[in-house]
Amino acid sequence: MGVLKHNLVNDRLVSRLLDRRWALNSPDAKINQIMILSRKEDGINGDVTFRNITQPCLGQGMMKKNQSFPSFYVVRDDLLHPLVNGNKARKLDATLPLLEDNDVTDVVTCGGCQSAHTAAVAVSCAERGVRSHLLLRGEEPETLTGYNLVSTLYGNVVYVPRSLYARRKEMLARHAESVAGPNGSVIWLNDIMEASTRNHSFGKQNFSEADPVKCPGKSRKVVVVNEGAGDSVALLGVMRLIQYLSQNHLFGKKQALKVVVDAGTGTTAVGLALGALCLGLPWEVTAVMLADKIDAYKEKEQNLISEFLRSFTSSADSLDPSIVNAETVQWVERSLPRKFGNILKGEVQECQNIARQTGILVDPIYTLAAWDIATKLSQNGDEDTEVVMLHTGGTLGMFGLAQRYRSYFKMSDEDSGYKSNH
Ligand SMILES: *Cc1c(COP(=O)(O)O)cnc(C)c1O
Repeated sequence: MGVLKHNLVNDRLVSRLLDRRWALNSPDAKINQIMILSRKEDGINGDVTFRNITQPCLGQGMMKKNQSFPSFYVVRDDLLHPLVNGNKARKLDATLPLLEDNDVTDVVTCGGCQSAHTAAVAVSCAERGVRSHLLLRGEEPETLTGYNLVSTLYGNVVYVPRSLYARRKEMLARHAESVAGPNGSVIWLNDIMEASTRNHSFGKQNFSEADPVKCPGKSRKVVVVNEGAGDSVALLGVMRLIQYLSQNHLFGKKQALKVVVDAGTGTTAVGLALGALCLGLPWEVTAVMLADKIDAYKEKEQNLISEFLRSFTSSADSLDPSIVNAETVQWVERSLPRKFGNILKGEVQECQNIARQTGILVDPIYTLAAWDIATKLSQNGDEDTEVVMLHTGGTLGMFGLAQRYRSYFKMSDEDSGYKSNH
């Protein structure tokens, strides 16, 4: 790893990766510090009290801290946009300008019924006058809510039976062809990147040109974005966040950090780890596995990294090819593993406690898992390492959950209604 880090601390590479047009005006995020005040040994509910320091002392002052309570930092990407989920905005940060540069007219992508990714694509494309076509797994729900509602309002939603959805590539390709029509063209997001790296330009010649006689200037240019934006282009926006956080007035480049994130496809986690590696930071990424087993995550990590190297580096970068086999992310189980999408009794109350104590909303599917790991790591960790949780967002997911798990959201007797004896 030492050699890799050394090779990768390559200013030219970093500037080639990150000096580009972005969708987000600035990479900034608010940072909060969460104090862990007490611990009773009474099970899952309310066993810890949190307090939010909304304007923590960062930069030089951070190192000199002398605190009597364990704490961790939260990077508030959940506040980036009201409808576009935090890490989805990061994953689209480099992608959206690329769509504009290539005069893309339509985007095709897919996701689960409450996919934050499809909602993010729908909103972001609409802002740019690009049509989005969203293939959602399963049947249309009776009541539309949460990310599903956002996808429906901003994009063209088609529900796909699970059996067809299982073969994603084929499904996406076929739908993209039908959107393009006989005179349009289809390209996959990663192919735009790889082609432009090969040509040493971000030119517009990546699409096969439509016949100008048969179809004068009206042909559709369709781009296919993978499920969850699991494309190597998505890593760039996350790396940009790492660069932002490593500034001296924030976490700096010398402070040892454990960065905790919840993982769906694992793309965000890999982007964080690659960012730290490329910038030569002593930061470690801990990703909580939510949707898959460890072998699947390790395979995705390797595929993403090799795709990344193909897309963004040339032989001139003299990168060690063994980086492909480097284990950049620490994949960990959540405290109580379960089938993805399920929530357990008591977890809604846990989210409620955190919300009431800190003003930060976490959800039981994704961000509660990262919050729990961040809490454990800061209680058990060593003094020299700070713990930083990336709050990936997911707020609107709560609406879908409140519909699906009605009984879990009912308040306890104690809290509900007016008390008759007052
Ligand atoms: C999509 C999403 C994730 C998963 O991100 P990956 O990059 O696919 O791992 C995590 N948390 C929230 C809140 C999300 O919406």
